[in-house]
Amino acid sequence: MKIILFGPPGAGKGTQASLIQKNYNIPHLSTGQIFREAIGNETELGKKVKSILDSGDLVPDQTVVDLVAEEIMKDQYAKGYILDGFPRTVAQAEAFDEILANQNDALDAFIFLKVPEEELVKRILSREDGRTDDTEEGVKKRLAVYYKETRPVKEYYEENGTVYEVDGTGSIDEIFSRIQSVLDN
Ligand code: AMP
Repeated sequence: MKIILFGPPGAGKGTQASLIQKNYNIPHLSTGQIFREAIGNETELGKKVKSILDSGDLVPDQTVVDLVAEEIMKDQYAKGYILDGFPRTVAQAEAFDEILANQNDALDAFIFLKVPEEELVKRILSREDGRTDDTEEGVKKRLAVYYKETRPVKEYYEENGTVYEVDGTGSIDEIFSRIQSVLDN
């Protein structure tokens, strides 16, 4: 199964993607996580994207698309994946569609986790893993980038397929059971 888990920063994409991975045995592919690991390991990619992640801006589309195209060719993703944090621009969504079409493949579900903005800021600032970009300024910047660059991706999928909107408020388990009812149907 190929799933895009979409939503604003702080919507709980990472948490829910991990739960989907555990319960459905579908690997979680987070572009943000790949970038953070690259930064931690001081690889070429890490050096290239560090200041971008620190500022809350987006990594250039071509870099991300190349990375995802390469990543999903790995054996571990042969049966599917949950994308978390990608696509984040309409250009990335178009490029991803093309990659899937070239593989004679298609997306199974686009899930939008809906959470009110006040709740997002609160959640990010209380995140336990304490990411270096989780400052109040960083959060505001990432939300602004989300509304300008990323939110249109949802409209793109609404025009080209089906978007499953899931209420992203409540407990982690409540949200996960809403996702399960989408995936099981
Ligand atoms: P995330 O872990 O998804 O919140 O991503 C953390 C940061 O990584 C973002 O603020 C961006 O700088 C970068 N990033 C992750 N995924 C993408 C993407 N698909 N396109 C551009 N930048 C990305």
